[in-house]
Amino acid sequence: MPLITVIPGDGIGPEVTEQALALLDGLGLDLSFDVLDHVNAGTFLATGCALSDDDLARIRRSDGALLGAIGDARVAGTRYARDVLLRLRFELDLYANYRPAQLLHDRLSPLRDPDRRAIDCVIVRENTEGLYTDIGGALRPGSTAEVAIDTEVSTHLGVSRVIDFALASATRAVCMVDKSNAVPNGGRLWQQCWLDATAARPDLATSHLYVDVAAMRLLSDPTAFDVIVTNNSYGDILSDLAAELAGGLGTSASVNLNPQTGFGLYEPVHGSAPDIAGTDTANPIGAILSAALLLERVGHPAEAAAVRTAVRMAVAEVRCTADLGGRLGTKAAGEAIRAALH
Ligand code: ATP
Ligand code: MG
Repeated sequence: MPLITVIPGDGIGPEVTEQALALLDGLGLDLSFDVLDHVNAGTFLATGCALSDDDLARIRRSDGALLGAIGDARVAGTRYARDVLLRLRFELDLYANYRPAQLLHDRLSPLRDPDRRAIDCVIVRENTEGLYTDIGGALRPGSTAEVAIDTEVSTHLGVSRVIDFALASATRAVCMVDKSNAVPNGGRLWQQCWLDATAARPDLATSHLYVDVAAMRLLSDPTAFDVIVTNNSYGDILSDLAAELAGGLGTSASVNLNPQTGFGLYEPVHGSAPDIAGTDTANPIGAILSAALLLERVGHPAEAAAVRTAVRMAVAEVRCTADLGGRLGTKAAGEAIRAALH
């Protein structure tokens, strides 16, 4: 029986996770859960460590983890969020960040032209290197002569494996996005890995765009995209753009995946949203669609599809939270999706 660890976390994390769990429970599948209630900012404040070696061992024993959100103003600027999220990412080598963006309902699109609204793509973001490795430094910090350096790291292993994963995920087309015209070294490596990997996939339509053009095209012609593969920072930015085109931050799901081990950390794209925490207003759809991604990976694709259909039905009937134009709270919105399942 698949074992899922659950990390509700901070802010709205526990509220949206509760709805995702209630939905999974209601499906009556052979899933068991190990809830790590203590992995949060409160524990970090009290003990200086939110994710212990024992927690990590429990997570390793499981088949996947469902995370709410990690982040709290009381520990902002400390290494708290980095320690939890980056530790999980690096220790479990979750190198592929998979973010689908599928328009939930026509009324949620910010685009004027109805024929161009139906975005249905996946952004595969490299998750372990690029600009976010914290390698760099500052000279004369705080002075007007300061020099600040953040190094962008690309390795042959890191680039080729995320490209391989993107190609394996696609059935129609893959677009590689870089800035090789301005970032020559990493750009050359991405180009080379892309050429090597795509040679073996003549069945797919493959293309390349510079990131500035890709951003423009996502707005002007979003339905042209199927799978996009790109580095850590471009993936961060483009996936927020795609999320906004698909229905907004509250609806966006993701998984941090190691395709070799099959282990995934499933989480909504939004953060802990402290401004609305505890008010029963957070949209649970990002967490619920993340649970659907999990269902797909642990052998329940039919249930995953049913969950997505139920979400679309609830949104179509405006049985949803205020960010999607509805009047329901978090709990009632979760309940509406469960009701649409039956
Ligand atoms: P973090 O640093 O934890 O990623 P952030 O600063 O990126 O946090 P988020 O927590 O992602 O911010 O949220 C940004 C804003 O979007 C929130 O303040 C909130 O108003 C809104 N928001 C985020 N998630 C949701 C949601 N699930 N439902 C409704 N509104 C949301
Ligand atoms: Mg954020």
